[in-house]
Amino acid sequence: MHELLQSLVTLSSELGREDRQLAILGEGNTSARGDDDTFWVKASGSQLATITADGFTQVKLSAILALVERQHMTQEEVQAIWPEVMVDPRQKRPSVETFMHALCLAEGGANWVAHTHPIACNAILCSKLGAEPFMRHLFPDGIVVCGRFPAVVPYVDPGFDLAKAVRTELRRYQDAHGVSPKLLLMVNHGITALGKTMQEALNITRMADKWARTIIGAYTLGGPNFMPDHEAARIDSRLDEHYRRNQLTGR
Ligand SMILES: [Zn+2]
Repeated sequence: MHELLQSLVTLSSELGREDRQLAILGEGNTSARGDDDTFWVKASGSQLATITADGFTQVKLSAILALVERQHMTQEEVQAIWPEVMVDPRQKRPSVETFMHALCLAEGGANWVAHTHPIACNAILCSKLGAEPFMRHLFPDGIVVCGRFPAVVPYVDPGFDLAKAVRTELRRYQDAHGVSPKLLLMVNHGITALGKTMQEALNITRMADKWARTIIGAYTLGGPNFMPDHEAARIDSRLDEHYRRNQLTGR
């Protein structure tokens, strides 16, 4: 468990690096699956850049998933329920995005989840275009690392309601594509990377940021020259790219 927490601290400080512009202050959160029916998630009030092992809280996965089945939960109800879903109630209160993390881990095929607010991604997701510029690709590594199609949720109140929207989108995505997404775009909010490994969660986040910067650059120079769909499909299915993908994620 010590090793997992150490890796969560590493992932968080990589994401919180000031030069990367992925999250500032208390923005963003990270989580990782434990070895049983639990996961570790950033505690409320911690900062990615400076977090240490005691900035994470261990919570019960199936107990949180059961809460998401409820029709509605007020902020007060959410605050009151935390001690029941925490493994050790003496730890810090979990982030309000714990519900979303639970869904990415339980239904999104992820072991490591990284949620950030990159400036470049938000410049697009907060624009009139929303997630639209991410629906086609501009360069092969975007497909290799972030997957051919990102998942998208509209703006929803962070916390319980957002988790419901994420669940709906994960299910729609799996029905449409037969796999889980690697990248979830959240309109007017940020992005979430769904990684099998810690390294993959970091890679997806960094590549999504680079992709967003490239989109913005392309729009200033006459507009994006998107890759043809058949070329994007080819990259997505190429064996040597599968090999690269596994090398990059440390699998
Ligand atoms: Zn957020």
